[in-house]
Amino acid sequence: MIKESPRACSTAIQRDIVPAGDYYIQIIKQGQTVRLVDLEGNQAADTLFYSANDPGERYSATDTIREQGNLYLTAGSILKTNENNDLLEIVADTCGRHDTVGGACASESNTVRYDLEKRGMHACRDSWMLAIQEHEEFGLGKADITHNINFFMNVPVTPEGKLTFEDGISAPGKYVELKALMDTIMLISNCPQLNNPCNGYNPTPIEVLIWD
Ligand SMILES: [Zn+2]
Repeated sequence: MIKESPRACSTAIQRDIVPAGDYYIQIIKQGQTVRLVDLEGNQAADTLFYSANDPGERYSATDTIREQGNLYLTAGSILKTNENNDLLEIVADTCGRHDTVGGACASESNTVRYDLEKRGMHACRDSWMLAIQEHEEFGLGKADITHNINFFMNVPVTPEGKLTFEDGISAPGKYVELKALMDTIMLISNCPQLNNPCNGYNPTPIEVLIWD
């Protein structure tokens, strides 16, 4: 569902650019709103969310899909935790649909999907592991790297129930906005994948804006 935001960029309290292939970790306080902007279009932002007070409670794709009765995320979606609490709500969305079924890229899956020689290529899982090592203050460990959201990524489910990675439905400047319903850690891997069309074969930067 397309829903524009009433918030002006000039009133944001924080703005950051996440370069292609880099990670971003930040606490979004309860009541704050965060916007992710697909600056150049067709970029996947692989994102994990945790309760800042207890990172063992974190975003759950299965609980979110069951509660909303829909496989895709868009404006109006409530992101649920593994304890079935409300974590965030998508309050604006100019892309229209986001994936939470396809998972994130890893060096292991790159070798299975593409070729053994792809093992050394940079992948989202590596970026998340680097983030939790460089930011021990968030209290996240390897076991906390679980299922994620792929903002801006197009993974249609066919009538037969198959998943396909398709060219993006996003475009330059499209954004998604989420309001935190509890203090939340947001961990993004701005996907470096070069072997499928999730990034248009050309990873690009995203922008993160936060409002009180
Ligand atoms: Zn990736």
